[in-house]
Amino acid sequence: MSGTAEKGGGNLLRSLDYSVLQQCMHCGMCLPACPTYVETLRERSSPRGRIAMMRAIADGDLETSRVFAEEMYFCLGCLACQTACPAGVDYATLIEQSRAQVEASGVLDRGQRRLVRTLLLRWVFTSRRRIKLLAKALYLFQRSGLRRVVRASGLLWLLPAKLRDLEPLTPEIQSTFTRRLYEQRYRSLNPTSPRFRVGVLSGCVQDIAFSHVNADTIAVLQVNGCEVILPEAQQCCGSLHAHNGDLASARDLARANIDAFSTEEGGVDAIIVNAGGCGSHLRHYDRLLADDVEYAGRAAAWSQKVRDICEFLVEIDFRPPPASPDADVLRVTYHESCHLKHGQGVSAQPRRILESIPGVELTELAEADWCCGSAGIYNITQPEMSMKLLDRKMGHIGDIRPQVVATGNPGCVIQIEHGLRLKGLSARVQHPVSLLAAAYERSRVEAAQRDFSPESLIVEGS
Ligand code: SF4
Ligand code: SF4
Repeated sequence: MSGTAEKGGGNLLRSLDYSVLQQCMHCGMCLPACPTYVETLRERSSPRGRIAMMRAIADGDLETSRVFAEEMYFCLGCLACQTACPAGVDYATLIEQSRAQVEASGVLDRGQRRLVRTLLLRWVFTSRRRIKLLAKALYLFQRSGLRRVVRASGLLWLLPAKLRDLEPLTPEIQSTFTRRLYEQRYRSLNPTSPRFRVGVLSGCVQDIAFSHVNADTIAVLQVNGCEVILPEAQQCCGSLHAHNGDLASARDLARANIDAFSTEEGGVDAIIVNAGGCGSHLRHYDRLLADDVEYAGRAAAWSQKVRDICEFLVEIDFRPPPASPDADVLRVTYHESCHLKHGQGVSAQPRRILESIPGVELTELAEADWCCGSAGIYNITQPEMSMKLLDRKMGHIGDIRPQVVATGNPGCVIQIEHGLRLKGLSARVQHPVSLLAAAYERSRVEAAQRDFSPESLIVEGS
């Protein structure tokens, strides 16, 4: 085929630096690392096959067809191929640009799809105010008993299958979001002579469904001598947009976050993130805004400062929690978030944190860095493959039956919790930083008990 007739927009793959497309030397070493290839054994569903199609489109030898579009969304974006590739293929850039090309070409355009994308990508996830408003409505639905009624009545069966399948994957919304927790408790606990001044990204899903993980993140940073700030104007990181072909919104959000963190007086030494998917994207604001005359320099400085929480703690030589006589043995295993391992190269640090916790017995999980099938919204858009991968993950977890599966990404938490429920396994899923925060808290309580004496009451009361 020759001549690329795009329905709308130009050829975005052609606008890429050609050296990125040329990096692949077709050696196939990435194939055994690619979950969609291993499951299908189809060349088209391998990194090598996908890159060949991308290059053919850039060269004008292939049209942006529906088959290409579906293959781009069948890819998990897990970036395991990037880690496996000896040629240093920049697959993250390739897949982002390819999905943007798919959206620009309009080959997948249908009324319903366009409406859902506009609502989610352009309306909900571009405003933290709207995300919180929707979260509050969802919280009422979950906690008022209405959800129980809806489940028992069978009303869910009236919904389209895709929406119905979403229900068990909806995270539990928290009653208090990060900002309020910070104002109520943590702001006043900032050290007066801090070692570092850091800004924490509260995220979108993380903020409404895992605000306790954000609180634990702030707490462990403070224990380690950091002053923590939480810029009020920060927005969603934009990874959802970038990974779904909406690079324009992703750029707007990146600019908003750069502004939000830099307006804090005195700036910050590091930008801390505790969600693998967000961190991987935040690190690449430099790439995203490389052509933005006003922001390119600031984005480059920003990318230098982004750190995953476990990575940062190890970097600053965190305080290991003291040995505790009350610490029970806790059998823990660690599942690697794809975007933490393959997108950010953070793999040893969460294990170091876990191993430092008194009582924790860390058992390696087979295929710990094999995608669990969550992959952003993949479990919604590609439920069949997602469930295959979840089954594989659950098989390995079932083999070792841990009490805790530790992992550093909210999508993985939701997906693995779903798998545990389906398989009737009783483990809980926690962020490594939450286990560390609990160990610090236990040692604080133990120290207070040790220091307690009846005389101190008399002194206090006198
Ligand atoms: S990102 Fe993951 S699913 Fe996609 S090609 Fe690479 S290894 Fe395969
Ligand atoms: S390992 Fe790298 S160079 Fe080899 S086929 Fe895969 S993407 Fe291409």
